[in-house]
Amino acid sequence: MSKEKGMYKCVACGNELFDSNTKFESGTGWPSFYQPVQSENVDTEEDRSYGMRRTEVKCSACGAHLGHVFPDGPKPTGLRYCINSVALKLDPKQ
Ligand SMILES: [Zn+2]
Repeated sequence: MSKEKGMYKCVACGNELFDSNTKFESGTGWPSFYQPVQSENVDTEEDRSYGMRRTEVKCSACGAHLGHVFPDGPKPTGLRYCINSVALKLDPKQ
């Protein structure tokens, strides 16, 4: 698990998605965040594939699939953005 500080960006277009300050240990092995850097930087869409109801998270700039958001995250948002690590590129902070 990466402990580096910085900004997680969309690997496809460089859009800023998540700050490492909002990353938390979810125990799932997936990078998990409780909020995006700005709500307009991600799009969410209901995903009913595989017989499940989930909310898909996409990059608002290029539409790349990022992962899913679940309503069982920590405070303050109560959300858990479960993001595929291959969709993210860390831009480290100095
Ligand atoms: Zn993008």
